[in-house]
Amino acid sequence: MAYEAVIGLEIHVQLNCTTKMFCDCPNRPGDDPNTNICPICLWLPGAVPRFSMETLEKATLASLGLDCEIQPRSAFDQKVYYYPDLPKGFQLSQHHMPLARRGFIEIKDENGKPKKLRLHHVHMEEDVAKLVHETEGRTPISLVDFNRAGTPLIEIVTEPDMRSPYDAMEFLRALRIQLRYTGCADCSMEQGTMRCDANISLRPEGSDQLNTKVEVKNMNSIHHVGNAISYEVKRQTESLINGEPIVLHTRLWDPDKGITTAMRAKFAGPCVPDPCVTQILVTDEWLQTMTSKLPEMPNQKINRFVQEYGLMHDEAAQMTSERELSEYFEAVVRLGASPRTVANWIAAQLLPAIKERGYEFTTSPVTPERFAGLITLLEKEEINSNSAKSVLIKLFETALTPEEIMDQFGFRQVSNTGALRDIVDQVITENASAVENYKNGNKKSIGFLVGQAMKLSKGKANPKRLQEIIKETLI
Ligand SMILES: [Zn+2]
Repeated sequence: MAYEAVIGLEIHVQLNCTTKMFCDCPNRPGDDPNTNICPICLWLPGAVPRFSMETLEKATLASLGLDCEIQPRSAFDQKVYYYPDLPKGFQLSQHHMPLARRGFIEIKDENGKPKKLRLHHVHMEEDVAKLVHETEGRTPISLVDFNRAGTPLIEIVTEPDMRSPYDAMEFLRALRIQLRYTGCADCSMEQGTMRCDANISLRPEGSDQLNTKVEVKNMNSIHHVGNAISYEVKRQTESLINGEPIVLHTRLWDPDKGITTAMRAKFAGPCVPDPCVTQILVTDEWLQTMTSKLPEMPNQKINRFVQEYGLMHDEAAQMTSERELSEYFEAVVRLGASPRTVANWIAAQLLPAIKERGYEFTTSPVTPERFAGLITLLEKEEINSNSAKSVLIKLFETALTPEEIMDQFGFRQVSNTGALRDIVDQVITENASAVENYKNGNKKSIGFLVGQAMKLSKGKANPKRLQEIIKETLI
Protein backbone atom coordinates (compact mmCIF):
# COMPACT_ATOMS: atom_id res chain seq x y z
CA MET A 1 0.00 0.00 0.00
CA ALA A 2 1.29 3.47 -0.85
CA TYR A 3 1.28 6.05 1.92
CA GLU A 4 1.04 9.81 1.78
CA ALA A 5 2.73 12.13 4.29
CA VAL A 6 0.61 14.70 6.12
CA ILE A 7 2.76 17.46 7.60
CA GLY A 8 1.94 20.48 9.73
CA LEU A 9 4.41 22.91 11.27
CA GLU A 10 4.52 24.97 14.46
CA ILE A 11 6.92 27.85 14.21
CA HIS A 12 8.09 30.08 17.05
CA VAL A 13 9.33 33.45 15.89
CA GLN A 14 11.04 35.98 18.15
CA LEU A 15 9.68 39.50 17.64
CA ASN A 16 12.38 42.18 17.51
CA CYS A 17 10.71 44.40 20.13
CA THR A 18 12.88 46.67 22.30
CA THR A 19 11.54 45.28 25.58
CA LYS A 20 10.20 42.01 26.92
CA MET A 21 6.51 41.22 26.72
CA PHE A 22 5.32 42.05 30.24
CA CYS A 23 8.11 44.23 31.71
CA ASP A 24 10.58 46.93 30.63
CA CYS A 25 13.68 44.69 30.54
CA PRO A 26 15.59 44.92 27.24
CA ASN A 27 14.76 42.19 24.73
CA ARG A 28 18.38 41.06 24.36
CA PRO A 29 18.64 37.40 25.33
CA GLY A 30 22.26 37.18 24.15
CA ASP A 31 23.66 39.64 26.74
CA ASP A 32 25.67 38.38 29.73
CA PRO A 33 23.53 35.87 31.67
CA ASN A 34 20.93 37.30 34.04
CA THR A 35 21.61 40.96 33.26
CA ASN A 36 18.21 41.72 31.66
CA ILE A 37 15.95 40.67 34.50
CA CYS A 38 13.53 42.25 36.99
CA PRO A 39 10.95 41.13 39.58
CA ILE A 40 8.30 40.74 36.86
CA CYS A 41 10.17 38.40 34.52
CA LEU A 42 11.55 36.51 37.53
CA TRP A 43 7.98 36.35 38.89
CA LEU A 44 8.96 37.42 42.39
CA PRO A 45 6.09 37.68 44.89
CA GLY A 46 3.83 40.63 44.15
CA ALA A 47 4.92 40.99 40.51
CA VAL A 48 2.20 42.17 38.12
CA PRO A 49 2.71 41.70 34.36
CA ARG A 50 2.12 44.76 32.15
CA PHE A 51 1.44 43.81 28.55
CA SER A 52 3.60 45.78 26.09
CA MET A 53 1.86 47.62 23.26
CA GLU A 54 4.91 47.13 21.03
CA THR A 55 4.45 43.36 21.22
CA LEU A 56 0.83 43.70 20.18
CA GLU A 57 1.72 45.99 17.26
CA LYS A 58 4.50 43.77 15.94
CA ALA A 59 2.51 40.55 16.39
CA THR A 60 -0.39 42.19 14.55
CA LEU A 61 1.79 43.44 11.68
CA ALA A 62 3.41 40.01 11.35
CA SER A 63 -0.03 38.34 11.26
CA LEU A 64 -1.33 40.81 8.69
CA GLY A 65 1.76 40.08 6.61
CA LEU A 66 0.65 36.43 6.56
CA ASP A 67 -2.89 37.36 5.43
CA CYS A 68 -4.40 36.37 8.79
CA GLU A 69 -7.64 37.72 10.24
CA ILE A 70 -6.95 39.65 13.44
CA GLN A 71 -9.50 38.63 16.07
CA PRO A 72 -11.54 41.40 17.70
CA ARG A 73 -10.92 39.79 21.10
CA SER A 74 -7.98 37.69 22.24
CA ALA A 75 -6.68 36.68 25.65
CA PHE A 76 -3.81 35.05 27.52
CA ASP A 77 -3.87 31.69 29.24
CA GLN A 78 -1.55 30.09 31.75
CA LYS A 79 0.03 27.05 30.15
CA VAL A 80 0.96 25.10 33.24
CA TYR A 81 4.02 22.91 33.37
CA TYR A 82 6.82 22.35 35.81
CA TYR A 83 10.38 22.85 34.59
CA PRO A 84 13.34 24.97 35.78
CA ASP A 85 13.19 27.22 32.69
CA LEU A 86 9.85 28.58 33.86
CA PRO A 87 9.95 30.75 37.01
CA LYS A 88 6.16 31.09 37.28
CA GLY A 89 5.35 27.42 36.81
CA PHE A 90 3.27 28.48 33.82
CA GLN A 91 3.87 30.21 30.51
CA LEU A 92 1.66 33.09 29.36
CA SER A 93 0.33 32.04 25.98
CA GLN A 94 -2.84 32.47 23.94
CA HIS A 95 -4.27 28.97 23.88
CA HIS A 96 -8.02 29.48 23.72
CA MET A 97 -8.31 32.90 22.09
CA PRO A 98 -5.40 33.57 19.71
CA LEU A 99 -4.60 36.97 18.21
CA ALA A 100 -5.15 35.91 14.60
CA ARG A 101 -6.75 33.06 12.67
CA ARG A 102 -6.48 31.61 9.18
CA GLY A 103 -4.07 33.22 6.68
CA PHE A 104 -1.92 31.41 4.15
CA ILE A 105 1.40 31.24 2.36
CA GLU A 106 1.70 30.48 -1.30
CA ILE A 107 4.59 28.35 -2.53
CA LYS A 108 5.46 26.57 -5.76
CA ASP A 109 5.41 22.78 -5.37
CA GLU A 110 8.00 20.40 -6.82
CA ASN A 111 6.36 20.64 -10.25
CA GLY A 112 6.37 24.44 -10.20
CA LYS A 113 2.60 24.66 -9.58
CA PRO A 114 1.35 27.30 -7.13
CA LYS A 115 0.13 25.77 -3.86
CA LYS A 116 -1.65 27.55 -1.02
CA LEU A 117 -0.64 26.36 2.44
CA ARG A 118 -3.16 27.46 5.06
CA LEU A 119 -2.38 28.72 8.54
CA HIS A 120 -4.60 27.67 11.41
CA HIS A 121 -3.76 30.60 13.69
CA VAL A 122 -1.07 32.90 15.07
CA HIS A 123 -0.81 33.49 18.81
CA MET A 124 1.44 35.48 21.13
CA GLU A 125 3.53 33.76 23.77
CA GLU A 126 6.35 34.64 26.14
CA ASP A 127 9.63 32.76 25.78
CA VAL A 128 11.07 30.76 28.65
CA ALA A 129 14.50 30.99 30.32
CA LYS A 130 17.51 29.23 28.88
CA LEU A 131 19.14 26.28 30.62
CA VAL A 132 22.89 25.87 30.32
CA HIS A 133 24.25 22.44 31.14
CA GLU A 134 27.82 22.21 32.39
CA THR A 135 30.07 19.89 34.32
CA GLU A 136 31.82 21.08 37.47
CA GLY A 137 34.51 18.57 38.29
CA ARG A 138 32.63 15.30 37.91
CA THR A 139 29.23 16.73 38.79
CA PRO A 140 26.91 17.77 35.98
CA ILE A 141 25.13 21.03 36.80
CA SER A 142 22.40 23.05 35.11
CA LEU A 143 22.41 26.85 35.17
CA VAL A 144 19.48 29.11 34.38
CA ASP A 145 19.81 32.32 32.32
CA PHE A 146 16.63 34.38 32.72
CA ASN A 147 17.51 36.95 30.01
CA ARG A 148 15.22 35.15 27.58
CA ALA A 149 12.36 34.66 30.09
CA GLY A 150 9.43 36.81 29.01
CA THR A 151 10.80 37.85 25.60
CA PRO A 152 8.06 38.18 22.97
CA LEU A 153 7.25 35.38 20.53
CA ILE A 154 4.56 34.58 18.06
CA GLU A 155 3.70 30.97 17.32
CA ILE A 156 2.44 30.22 13.84
CA VAL A 157 0.47 26.97 13.56
CA THR A 158 -0.23 25.67 10.08
CA GLU A 159 -2.97 23.39 8.81
CA PRO A 160 -1.63 19.94 7.86
CA ASP A 161 -1.44 20.93 4.19
CA MET A 162 2.14 19.94 3.39
CA ARG A 163 2.79 16.61 1.69
CA SER A 164 6.58 16.45 1.38
CA PRO A 165 9.81 17.73 2.92
CA TYR A 166 10.03 20.00 -0.14
CA ASP A 167 6.69 21.66 0.72
CA ALA A 168 7.82 22.23 4.30
CA MET A 169 11.16 23.75 3.28
CA GLU A 170 9.56 26.03 0.69
CA PHE A 171 6.96 27.07 3.25
CA LEU A 172 9.66 28.05 5.75
CA ARG A 173 11.62 29.99 3.11
CA ALA A 174 8.53 31.93 2.06
CA LEU A 175 7.48 32.49 5.68
CA ARG A 176 10.89 33.88 6.54
CA ILE A 177 10.85 36.27 3.58
CA GLN A 178 7.36 37.53 4.45
CA LEU A 179 8.02 38.02 8.14
CA ARG A 180 11.30 39.80 7.48
CA TYR A 181 9.46 42.12 5.08
CA THR A 182 7.13 43.22 7.88
CA GLY A 183 10.22 44.38 9.79
CA CYS A 184 8.99 42.64 12.98
CA ALA A 185 11.36 39.67 13.10
CA ASP A 186 14.81 38.52 11.95
CA CYS A 187 13.82 34.86 11.52
CA SER A 188 17.21 33.15 11.73
CA MET A 189 16.87 29.43 12.46
CA GLU A 190 20.64 29.24 12.94
CA GLN A 191 20.53 31.93 15.64
CA GLY A 192 17.36 30.58 17.22
CA THR A 193 15.13 33.56 16.43
CA MET A 194 12.95 31.18 14.40
CA ARG A 195 12.31 27.64 15.72
CA CYS A 196 10.27 24.98 14.02
CA ASP A 197 8.56 21.77 15.18
CA ALA A 198 7.03 19.41 12.65
CA ASN A 199 4.00 17.14 13.08
CA ILE A 200 4.17 14.20 10.73
CA SER A 201 1.69 11.40 10.09
CA LEU A 202 1.00 8.97 7.28
CA ARG A 203 -2.21 7.81 5.65
CA PRO A 204 -3.04 5.54 2.71
CA GLU A 205 -2.84 7.56 -0.49
CA GLY A 206 -6.23 8.94 -1.46
CA SER A 207 -7.64 8.74 2.08
CA ASP A 208 -8.73 11.94 3.82
CA GLN A 209 -8.50 10.81 7.43
CA LEU A 210 -5.77 12.04 9.78
CA ASN A 211 -3.72 9.43 11.59
CA THR A 212 -1.69 9.56 14.79
CA LYS A 213 1.06 12.13 14.43
CA VAL A 214 4.61 12.24 15.71
CA GLU A 215 6.15 15.56 16.66
CA VAL A 216 9.79 16.25 15.77
CA LYS A 217 11.81 18.99 17.50
CA ASN A 218 15.34 20.38 17.54
CA MET A 219 15.87 21.37 13.92
CA ASN A 220 18.23 24.34 13.60
CA SER A 221 18.02 25.01 9.89
CA ILE A 222 15.54 24.72 7.05
CA HIS A 223 17.70 21.91 5.73
CA HIS A 224 17.39 19.99 9.01
CA VAL A 225 13.61 20.28 8.79
CA GLY A 226 13.66 18.69 5.33
CA ASN A 227 16.03 15.91 6.41
CA ALA A 228 14.12 15.18 9.63
CA ILE A 229 10.80 14.91 7.78
CA SER A 230 12.31 12.61 5.12
CA TYR A 231 13.71 10.37 7.83
CA GLU A 232 10.46 10.33 9.80
CA VAL A 233 8.34 9.49 6.73
CA LYS A 234 10.63 6.57 5.97
CA ARG A 235 10.64 5.39 9.58
CA GLN A 236 6.85 5.52 9.90
CA THR A 237 6.36 3.79 6.53
CA GLU A 238 8.56 0.89 7.69
CA SER A 239 6.66 0.66 10.99
CA LEU A 240 3.32 0.46 9.17
CA ILE A 241 4.61 -2.13 6.71
CA ASN A 242 5.80 -4.21 9.68
CA GLY A 243 2.37 -3.92 11.27
CA GLU A 244 3.58 -1.76 14.20
CA PRO A 245 1.12 0.96 15.23
CA ILE A 246 2.29 4.60 15.38
CA VAL A 247 1.93 6.08 18.86
CA LEU A 248 1.66 9.76 19.70
CA HIS A 249 5.02 10.99 21.00
CA THR A 250 7.78 13.55 20.52
CA ARG A 251 11.11 12.88 18.84
CA LEU A 252 14.38 14.80 18.62
CA TRP A 253 16.30 15.27 15.38
CA ASP A 254 19.95 14.29 15.67
CA PRO A 255 21.71 16.13 12.81
CA ASP A 256 25.02 14.30 13.33
CA LYS A 257 23.52 10.82 13.02
CA GLY A 258 20.74 11.92 10.63
CA ILE A 259 18.03 10.17 12.68
CA THR A 260 15.20 11.04 15.07
CA THR A 261 15.04 9.52 18.55
CA ALA A 262 12.14 9.34 21.00
CA MET A 263 12.34 11.86 23.85
CA ARG A 264 10.68 11.81 27.24
CA ALA A 265 7.72 14.16 27.29
CA LYS A 266 7.74 17.17 29.63
CA PHE A 267 4.91 17.15 32.10
CA ALA A 268 2.15 19.18 30.48
CA GLY A 269 -0.56 20.50 32.74
CA PRO A 270 -3.79 22.32 32.00
CA CYS A 271 -4.20 25.59 30.16
CA VAL A 272 -6.34 28.01 32.16
CA PRO A 273 -7.37 31.63 31.45
CA ASP A 274 -4.94 34.10 33.01
CA PRO A 275 -6.59 36.51 35.48
CA CYS A 276 -3.82 39.17 35.48
CA VAL A 277 -3.32 40.23 31.87
CA THR A 278 -6.25 42.11 30.46
CA GLN A 279 -8.05 40.80 27.38
CA ILE A 280 -7.09 42.45 24.10
CA LEU A 281 -9.87 44.21 22.22
CA VAL A 282 -9.00 45.35 18.73
CA THR A 283 -11.03 48.21 17.23
CA ASP A 284 -11.56 48.63 13.48
CA GLU A 285 -9.85 52.00 13.65
CA TRP A 286 -6.69 50.63 15.26
CA LEU A 287 -6.65 47.72 12.83
CA GLN A 288 -6.84 50.14 9.91
CA THR A 289 -3.88 52.07 11.28
CA MET A 290 -1.90 48.84 11.54
CA THR A 291 -2.89 47.72 8.04
CA SER A 292 -1.69 51.04 6.64
CA LYS A 293 1.70 50.42 8.29
CA LEU A 294 2.16 47.12 6.45
CA PRO A 295 4.73 47.52 3.67
CA GLU A 296 4.21 46.20 0.16
CA MET A 297 4.62 42.43 0.54
CA PRO A 298 6.75 40.19 -1.73
CA ASN A 299 3.95 38.82 -3.94
CA GLN A 300 2.56 42.29 -4.66
CA LYS A 301 6.07 43.52 -5.32
CA ILE A 302 6.86 40.68 -7.75
CA ASN A 303 3.76 41.54 -9.80
CA ARG A 304 4.61 45.23 -9.79
CA PHE A 305 8.24 44.59 -10.82
CA VAL A 306 7.00 42.47 -13.74
CA GLN A 307 4.53 45.11 -14.90
CA GLU A 308 6.44 48.27 -14.13
CA TYR A 309 9.98 47.22 -15.03
CA GLY A 310 9.39 44.43 -17.55
CA LEU A 311 11.32 41.86 -15.48
CA MET A 312 10.71 38.15 -16.02
CA HIS A 313 8.88 36.50 -13.10
CA ASP A 314 12.01 34.74 -11.86
CA GLU A 315 14.06 37.93 -12.01
CA ALA A 316 11.35 39.78 -10.08
CA ALA A 317 11.23 36.99 -7.48
CA GLN A 318 14.96 37.21 -7.04
CA MET A 319 14.99 41.02 -6.74
CA THR A 320 12.28 40.85 -4.05
CA SER A 321 13.70 37.98 -1.99
CA GLU A 322 14.80 40.49 0.67
CA ARG A 323 13.22 43.84 1.35
CA GLU A 324 16.60 45.65 1.37
CA LEU A 325 17.52 44.07 -1.95
CA SER A 326 14.24 45.17 -3.58
CA GLU A 327 14.75 48.71 -2.28
CA TYR A 328 18.32 48.75 -3.58
CA PHE A 329 17.16 47.54 -7.01
CA GLU A 330 14.52 50.26 -7.23
CA ALA A 331 16.95 52.96 -6.08
CA VAL A 332 19.37 52.00 -8.88
CA VAL A 333 16.60 51.90 -11.49
CA ARG A 334 15.32 55.31 -10.38
CA LEU A 335 18.74 56.74 -11.22
CA GLY A 336 18.15 55.87 -14.86
CA ALA A 337 19.73 52.45 -15.39
CA SER A 338 17.62 49.97 -17.33
CA PRO A 339 15.84 47.48 -15.04
CA ARG A 340 16.75 44.16 -16.65
CA THR A 341 20.43 45.03 -16.90
CA VAL A 342 20.36 46.12 -13.27
CA ALA A 343 18.62 42.90 -12.19
CA ASN A 344 21.10 40.74 -14.10
CA TRP A 345 24.12 42.58 -12.80
CA ILE A 346 22.88 42.52 -9.22
CA ALA A 347 22.21 38.77 -9.39
CA ALA A 348 25.28 37.67 -11.33
CA GLN A 349 27.95 40.13 -10.15
CA LEU A 350 27.02 42.33 -7.21
CA LEU A 351 25.45 39.74 -4.85
CA PRO A 352 28.35 37.27 -5.13
CA ALA A 353 30.86 40.13 -4.69
CA ILE A 354 29.09 41.39 -1.57
CA LYS A 355 28.90 37.90 -0.11
CA GLU A 356 32.53 37.14 -0.89
CA ARG A 357 33.65 40.27 0.97
CA GLY A 358 31.47 39.56 4.01
CA TYR A 359 29.28 42.66 3.62
CA GLU A 360 25.57 43.01 4.17
CA PHE A 361 23.56 44.82 1.54
CA THR A 362 23.11 47.83 3.75
CA THR A 363 26.81 48.15 4.69
CA SER A 364 28.38 47.53 1.27
CA PRO A 365 30.40 50.46 -0.13
CA VAL A 366 28.70 49.95 -3.50
CA THR A 367 25.83 52.39 -2.92
CA PRO A 368 22.92 52.57 -5.39
CA GLU A 369 24.46 55.78 -6.82
CA ARG A 370 27.83 54.15 -7.54
CA PHE A 371 26.23 50.99 -8.93
CA ALA A 372 23.90 53.01 -11.16
CA GLY A 373 26.96 54.94 -12.41
CA LEU A 374 28.64 51.67 -13.36
CA ILE A 375 25.58 50.33 -15.23
CA THR A 376 25.20 53.64 -17.05
CA LEU A 377 28.82 53.50 -18.30
CA LEU A 378 28.12 49.99 -19.53
CA GLU A 379 24.89 50.99 -21.25
CA LYS A 380 26.50 53.99 -22.94
CA GLU A 381 29.18 51.56 -24.17
CA GLU A 382 31.93 53.58 -22.51
CA ILE A 383 33.16 50.33 -20.95
CA ASN A 384 32.59 46.76 -22.05
CA SER A 385 31.23 44.13 -19.69
CA ASN A 386 34.69 42.75 -19.03
CA SER A 387 35.92 46.10 -17.78
CA ALA A 388 32.67 46.68 -15.90
CA LYS A 389 33.48 43.64 -13.77
CA SER A 390 36.91 45.13 -13.00
CA VAL A 391 35.37 48.52 -12.18
CA LEU A 392 32.92 46.78 -9.80
CA ILE A 393 35.82 45.23 -7.87
CA LYS A 394 37.50 48.67 -7.64
CA LEU A 395 34.26 50.11 -6.23
CA PHE A 396 34.81 47.91 -3.18
CA GLU A 397 38.46 48.93 -2.88
CA THR A 398 38.40 52.69 -3.50
CA ALA A 399 36.14 55.66 -2.82
CA LEU A 400 36.32 56.82 -6.46
CA THR A 401 33.29 57.13 -8.73
CA PRO A 402 32.92 54.55 -11.52
CA GLU A 403 33.87 57.22 -14.06
CA GLU A 404 37.04 58.14 -12.15
CA ILE A 405 37.96 54.46 -11.89
CA MET A 406 37.41 54.03 -15.63
CA ASP A 407 39.74 56.92 -16.45
CA GLN A 408 42.41 56.38 -13.79
CA PHE A 409 42.75 52.64 -14.41
CA GLY A 410 42.36 52.84 -18.17
CA PHE A 411 39.15 50.84 -18.54
CA ARG A 412 37.56 53.10 -21.14
CA GLN A 413 36.33 51.06 -24.07
CA VAL A 414 38.02 51.53 -27.42
CA SER A 415 35.27 52.13 -30.00
CA ASN A 416 37.25 54.40 -32.26
CA THR A 417 37.07 52.78 -35.73
CA GLY A 418 40.62 53.70 -36.72
CA ALA A 419 42.16 52.19 -33.62
CA LEU A 420 40.05 49.04 -33.97
CA ARG A 421 40.99 48.66 -37.67
CA ASP A 422 44.69 48.66 -36.73
CA ILE A 423 44.04 45.85 -34.26
CA VAL A 424 41.97 43.88 -36.76
CA ASP A 425 44.65 44.21 -39.44
CA GLN A 426 47.25 42.81 -37.08
CA VAL A 427 45.00 39.89 -36.04
CA ILE A 428 44.24 39.02 -39.68
CA THR A 429 47.93 38.99 -40.56
CA GLU A 430 48.85 36.83 -37.59
CA ASN A 431 46.01 34.27 -37.91
CA ALA A 432 46.02 33.22 -41.52
CA SER A 433 44.54 29.76 -40.93
CA ALA A 434 41.52 31.10 -38.94
CA VAL A 435 40.96 33.66 -41.70
CA GLU A 436 41.14 30.86 -44.26
CA ASN A 437 38.60 28.81 -42.30
CA TYR A 438 36.25 31.77 -42.11
CA LYS A 439 36.50 32.38 -45.81
CA ASN A 440 35.79 28.67 -46.43
CA GLY A 441 32.48 29.04 -44.63
CA ASN A 442 33.37 28.15 -41.03
CA LYS A 443 31.58 31.11 -39.49
CA LYS A 444 32.60 30.04 -36.00
CA SER A 445 36.20 31.17 -36.57
CA ILE A 446 35.05 34.75 -36.19
CA GLY A 447 34.70 34.12 -32.45
CA PHE A 448 38.34 33.15 -32.32
CA LEU A 449 39.41 36.24 -34.28
CA VAL A 450 37.37 38.55 -32.01
CA GLY A 451 38.96 36.85 -29.00
CA GLN A 452 42.45 37.48 -30.38
CA ALA A 453 41.60 41.11 -31.07
CA MET A 454 40.20 41.58 -27.55
CA LYS A 455 43.42 40.14 -26.14
CA LEU A 456 45.46 42.54 -28.23
CA SER A 457 43.39 45.48 -26.94
CA LYS A 458 43.99 44.28 -23.35
CA GLY A 459 40.24 43.65 -23.01
CA LYS A 460 39.26 47.22 -23.77
CA ALA A 461 37.92 47.01 -27.29
CA ASN A 462 34.24 47.19 -28.07
CA PRO A 463 33.61 43.54 -29.05
CA LYS A 464 30.51 44.35 -31.11
CA ARG A 465 32.39 46.89 -33.25
CA LEU A 466 35.35 44.48 -33.57
CA GLN A 467 33.13 41.79 -35.00
CA GLU A 468 31.58 44.22 -37.47
CA ILE A 469 34.99 45.43 -38.67
CA ILE A 470 36.34 41.89 -39.04
CA LYS A 471 33.30 40.90 -41.11
CA GLU A 472 33.65 44.00 -43.31
CA THR A 473 37.34 43.37 -43.84
CA LEU A 474 36.97 39.70 -44.75
CA ILE A 475 34.12 40.07 -47.25
ZN1 LIG B 1 11.88 42.00 33.41
